[in-house]
Amino acid sequence: MASSNELIKILTELGESRSCVSRSIGKSISLSGGSLEADELSLLAAVVSSTENITIANLSTGSSCACAQLASCYGSLLLTSNSTNYTAEATDYWDVRADLLPKCIFMPTKADQVADAVSVFASCGAQFAIRGGGHMNFPGSNNIDGGVLLALNNLTDIKVASDNATIEAGPGTRWIDVYTALSDYGLYCIGGRLKTIGVAGLELIGGFHYLNNKYGMAMDNVVSYDVVLGNGTQVVANSTLNRDLFWALKGGSSNFGIVTKFTIKTLKIPYISTTIQEFNESAVPDFIAATANLANNDGPDIAAGSVISISYNATTKVVSPSLLGVQEGTESPPSRFANFSVIPSVVTENNVMRPLEWHSQLDSPFQMFRVQFAHKTIKPDADQLYSIYKAWKTAVDEISDVKGLYPTFVMNILPASSLSVAKNNGIGNTWGLDDDQSYIRWANAEDDLRMTNWARSLLDYWHLENQAKNLTSEFIYMGDAGDFQYPFAGFPLENVQRMREIRSAYDPLGVFSRLNWGGFKLGAN
Ligand SMILES: Cc1cc2nc3c(=O)[nH]c(=O)nc-3n(C[C@H](O)[C@H](O)[C@H](O)COP(=O)(O)OP(=O)(O)OC[C@H]3O[C@@H](n4cnc5c(N)ncnc54)[C@H](O)[C@@H]3O)c2cc1C
Repeated sequence: MASSNELIKILTELGESRSCVSRSIGKSISLSGGSLEADELSLLAAVVSSTENITIANLSTGSSCACAQLASCYGSLLLTSNSTNYTAEATDYWDVRADLLPKCIFMPTKADQVADAVSVFASCGAQFAIRGGGHMNFPGSNNIDGGVLLALNNLTDIKVASDNATIEAGPGTRWIDVYTALSDYGLYCIGGRLKTIGVAGLELIGGFHYLNNKYGMAMDNVVSYDVVLGNGTQVVANSTLNRDLFWALKGGSSNFGIVTKFTIKTLKIPYISTTIQEFNESAVPDFIAATANLANNDGPDIAAGSVISISYNATTKVVSPSLLGVQEGTESPPSRFANFSVIPSVVTENNVMRPLEWHSQLDSPFQMFRVQFAHKTIKPDADQLYSIYKAWKTAVDEISDVKGLYPTFVMNILPASSLSVAKNNGIGNTWGLDDDQSYIRWANAEDDLRMTNWARSLLDYWHLENQAKNLTSEFIYMGDAGDFQYPFAGFPLENVQRMREIRSAYDPLGVFSRLNWGGFKLGAN
């Protein structure tokens, strides 16, 4: 531990060391007796913060200041509108709506550079956006008009620990990178279901995977985070260091800092049993009943899960229910989906394969759609789900003139047993409860507001109906939420209060609430 004199000396040096870029405290200053421990860094962060004031500059002034400072120190890592790769980076998003025009794009290759960038943002009062895998699907969540885009694409280090128990992944990695690195070892982990989703965004909001029922949400499998705080300090948050931050990052999104490394628990799962089943419209009632049944009987004895969706082509009037099911092990067909397997299908494909092989097929190409996600949560009830489905289909018919309309009704199961994992792992997470969701996507810019209003009124009406039947949960998953939804309202109030306290302790300047305002934020105290 550093003595108080040493801490004061460091603070003095810090004040003098701000030159090219305000360097992060932890990395730029070393102690005669060794390096600072993470808790000491937190203490320093708090002291330094209390001696500085953040100024929120106007958008143009703040970003000009930050872009100029970053250019002078890291010119080769900075793109402006004249740079060759600017447009490719400004549009490297899954949803076309997320394409915006940042003043400059900073693409660090090391955590220290992320820390420097945050220090620059704070000192310039510059508004900025953070991008991991670029899948959050609404404008402003991960990009910014006129501000600075911090694109983490180049932080792609991946390392399996020598004991094979964990894997470290940088915030620019995608799930396919992680599954690829694990595959040679016969290992797997709880992450994203589609291959190009970013590790960073998914880990910070929860993480629906196929095997949640036994192994918990993806966030429950993170054993350590390396984090850059709002004043450029770098800390580690795990079960022994900064435990409060460790908890808050499990579902608390981008409210506390920028994660520069995720350390994730690995699982010895060399093979999975998969099923792809497609049905026609007459199967819908049985399909929905099988879904409710699966949700009601989804214990942790067999690790298994699914993507369950019904797409509806409002032009051809073709309804297509489909199941993508995955189960741990080699039993084929996977027994957990027996209730679906008895429904007459138009396609059934059962296989046993390595997890990597499965995920490699599941692409989610960028820049294909303008999408409106939105969802609500109910307790599994087949009759009510069927009523909602029918109302959804009728409502889709009402907007069938929207060009490129591709509506999909998704029922995402959040098994109670997945919540037990967090209860018993000694740290917990920030949320819970059963889940059902729908989303819809379409193709024309001029329909954005209309689609948002359509989705919103449909959901809100059915939420009221569900409330009357005592079927509702207020839980909203950030990964499927509409930009008009406020997921934190569905978290226990005491958890939100605790997160706000943690935010005040780790980001007293408000860098991640005032300068980085996109995505799902906790809001003012
Ligand atoms: C096609 C598709 C499929 C999906 N499938 C699944 C699924 O199977 N399971 C599931 O749980 N979810 C799924 N989602 C939701 C997905 O998990 C979220 O959109 C998630 O935020 C994506 O992470 P990202 O890194 O790609 O996104 P980004 O848009 O880059 O980041 C999401 C948010 O996190 C912030 N952020 C990014 N990196 C960091 C960082 N290092 N530190 C702090 N903040 C950061 C960003 O500013 C942004 O607000 C899916 C989404 C899409 C579009």
